[in-house]
Amino acid sequence: MSDTHLFSPWVPLPGVFGSHETGEPFERCIECDCFLLEPGTEYIVEKAFRCYRDFSISDTVFEYAMCMECAEEMTNSLSRESLGRLENYFSQNVNLRERLSWATQDRPSDPGQWLSSCAIKGTSVEDLSEYQIVGHCTGDQLVLSIFPYLIGGEALDEVGVLLSNKTLDILDDFGGRHFGLPPEFSDLPRTRFMPVL
Ligand SMILES: [Zn+2]
Repeated sequence: MSDTHLFSPWVPLPGVFGSHETGEPFERCIECDCFLLEPGTEYIVEKAFRCYRDFSISDTVFEYAMCMECAEEMTNSLSRESLGRLENYFSQNVNLRERLSWATQDRPSDPGQWLSSCAIKGTSVEDLSEYQIVGHCTGDQLVLSIFPYLIGGEALDEVGVLLSNKTLDILDDFGGRHFGLPPEFSDLPRTRFMPVL
């Protein structure tokens, strides 16, 4: 194994970024159905979890993979106002330098560090009752950069407040088209898809 390989910013896709149903990597883009597992095909995986600590179980609330072309198209359809606020929020709250430094450490093979706490609030994943993870993938590999990241419920609430009604409508429409809305969402003000910047 060469030094170059040791410092590779890609690792084999961990199971947590695979499909909850099959445990295997997602094969298709949720929007355009293109095949994702060709080497070099870039895409995003987003998964949302609810945790019930009293029962030591967690539920996958939704999950999908989306090719980069569709992710960019969706981002471009969101309001500029929302995107500007989101960019500010992330740049002010996420320690990008620290995350990039993890990718150049000499044991970057374990993506656990990226997913051990909320990227915004620092809350440990064990203390979260709700969170989402977002990964940047290429074929059957996970890219380690500022991705992947985990966002807890408190930060998701703050993100929701930053989004315009137009953006929330687009995200609601996406959720409705692909998932139907699970009953858990009915008591929430709006759905909680994270726009990927
Ligand atoms: Zn697509």
